[in-house]
Formats: sequence, structure tokens, C-alpha cells
Amino acid sequence: MNIKTRKGDIKEMTIKEIEAKSILRKHKKIDSWFISHYGMNLYRGCAHNCVYCDGRSEKYNVDGEFGEDVTVKVNAIELLRRELKPKRKRTPLKKSFIMIGGGVGDSYQPIEKSYQLTRKALELMYEYNLPVHMLTKSTLIERDIDILKKINEKNRAIVSFSFSSVNDKISAIFEPGVPPPSERLKTLAFFKSEGIPCGMFLLPVIPFITDKQELMEESVRKASEVGLDFVIFGGMTLKDGRQKDYFLNVLKEHYPDLVKEYQKIYTGDEWGQASGEYYDSINLTFNKIAKKYKMPKRIPYALFKDTLSENDLVIVILEHIDYFLKLEGRRSPYGYAAYSISKLKEPLSSMKGELRKLKGIGRTTEGIILEILETGTSSYYEKLLRG
Ligand code: SF4
Repeated sequence: MNIKTRKGDIKEMTIKEIEAKSILRKHKKIDSWFISHYGMNLYRGCAHNCVYCDGRSEKYNVDGEFGEDVTVKVNAIELLRRELKPKRKRTPLKKSFIMIGGGVGDSYQPIEKSYQLTRKALELMYEYNLPVHMLTKSTLIERDIDILKKINEKNRAIVSFSFSSVNDKISAIFEPGVPPPSERLKTLAFFKSEGIPCGMFLLPVIPFITDKQELMEESVRKASEVGLDFVIFGGMTLKDGRQKDYFLNVLKEHYPDLVKEYQKIYTGDEWGQASGEYYDSINLTFNKIAKKYKMPKRIPYALFKDTLSENDLVIVILEHIDYFLKLEGRRSPYGYAAYSISKLKEPLSSMKGELRKLKGIGRTTEGIILEILETGTSSYYEKLLRG
């Protein structure tokens, strides 16, 4: 299969078809970034070939040359139908959004035009009454507006796009296989006009290139102009091995002076994390900008309040509070409290008088949990969400 890059080059892709053993990937606990217990990769490998993509790292065992070889799980839909079908012995799926996208291959990369696995997966989500959260960089998602609208009306759909900035020129260097940010924003505006909640994952910002205050502000400003419901922010990871080598080669070609700066902040952490000081500084900048535009920094409660079990609702709200406080450089006990709750088998409402016996739950946290159980939300959380 041949595809055209942003520069106009024709790139030959190698397609490998495989029979997968399973499709739905279950998280140990609710993921409060995506409000999801389950994700899926219908393709492994990605023709979009973003220079910073961590799918390239050896850790994920993606076969072949990343960016040139794509593996297609040809039995994905058959498997998914089997995994979604409620059977007597199986525990039912946990209530949450099903996350389609991200991971090691964009669900709307060019090959989707012919295989249509994402579209067929969406049809199953509709059939089984499941809310979905889509994350992509491709405007091909517009093809599925009909089914996404139907899902949104019945259960809810969220469409998110990821960006490293909204600058088309920089994106052409680091995201050679995807439509420019200006096109992605137009697609988001289109989905918003169709009544579908949408968000921006400003993730990853590229150190010393797209993490500059002006560029970050331009992204949040444009998100705000389009009427997006949230902007989720994050820095870049660079794992030693294929991911780092590939990225540094491109960096040397376009920004040779920055290589030394990268060596200072990426010092071989197992997960490719940059230094804590670096992340603190970009988080601080983002927080100021998000406040200025009153932009929610996590998926707002209104979009998930009727989608989760009561324990998961409490976990997500506590984790969001934890994130908001840490963005301000403050300490927070709420992440640990959320973790304790994630280990519970019984619903929180059945143990209202015993909450303080749980690890990490003091008087203030208890108050927040009781308020969520009674009203469905927390006034403290609401204040922090946009503040
Ligand atoms: S679109 Fe996503 S999965 Fe594909 S190369 Fe880019 S970052 Fe990786």
C-alpha cells in the first residue's frame, strides 16, 4: 500500500495481517485521563510516523519498521463481538467509556480506509450501548460522524485530537503523516457543531520547541475559540533505544543546537521521563494559561457523571483534584485515597460510617466523598476544574 506524506513523498507501507487472541485491554483501575476501563488497538504500528511516538520504543514490541509496517488484526471485530457479549459466567463490563485510539497505532491511519475496523468497532459499541472516547490525529474520523452521533445520542461519545502545538510548520517536521493542526481544529469544530463533546490532548509538547509559553497559549486559545470542552496537557517521554535515537536524528537535522539541552533533561529514566524540574516548569506554565482561558484541564464531570459506578466516580473526582493541586505545586492526599478506594469490592455508599478506616482518607477527604455520594459531585472539585 502506498501513502502520501505531508511533504508529498509517496511512502510504501508493508501490511501484515494477523489473527489476534484478544482485543479489549482492561486497565487495573479506571483511567481518569480518558474515563475508561478498557482500550483497544485494532492496528499495531502507525503510518503517521510521528517523530516522538513512543510506540517506536522496544518496550511495546511493535513488529517491523515503525512508520512503515502496520499489522492489522483482521479478526478484531469477531473477537470484539465475543468479548462484549454478556455470558453467564463472565463478569459484566465495568461502566466507563471504551477508549478507541492512541497506544501503538492511530485508529484512523490511512489503512482504516480499506479495512474499516474502527468503523465496525463503533457499530458494535452502538449495538452494545457503550459510550466511546476517540483519540486520533486524523481527519478521516469525519467519515464516521453518523455512527458517532448515534452513539452520542444514546450513550455519549467524546472526540479528542492530539496536538504537539497548533503550529503547522513545526508539525510538518514532527508529525509528517497526519493532517496539519489547522485541519484537525476544523474537524473538531465540525464535531462540536454536530453536538459532540470534544477535547484537545496537548500532548506531548516538544521540549524547547512547542513548550514555549506563546505556542502553548496559542493552542489553548484556539481550543477555546473552537469551544472545546477540555485540554489535557502533558510533556514528552523519550525512552532509550529506537525512540530516542530516531527522535534525536530528526532533532539534529532541524534543531542541532538543542541536542545538548535534551541530553540534560533526558538522562535515561526507564520510562523515558524528563527531569522533574522540567515537567514542573511546563506544568506551571500550562496551568496559568488554562486558568486564563477558564479551560478545564481534565474531562469535566458533566461528561462522565452518568457513565460510571459510584466508586469510579469518586476515584476519578479525587484523582482530578489530586492533579489540579499538584499542578499548583501543592501536596495532595487525594491520589492515595483514590488508590485505596480502587481496591474496594463493596460500594462506598454501603460504608459511609467507616470511610476513615480506609488508608489515606482523613476528615477532609471523607467530607468530599460524602458530598459526591449525596450530590454526585464535589464543590471543591468544581472550583478547581476551571480555576
Ligand atoms: S498518530 Fe499517535 S500512534 Fe500514530 S505515530 Fe503519531 S503518536 Fe504514534
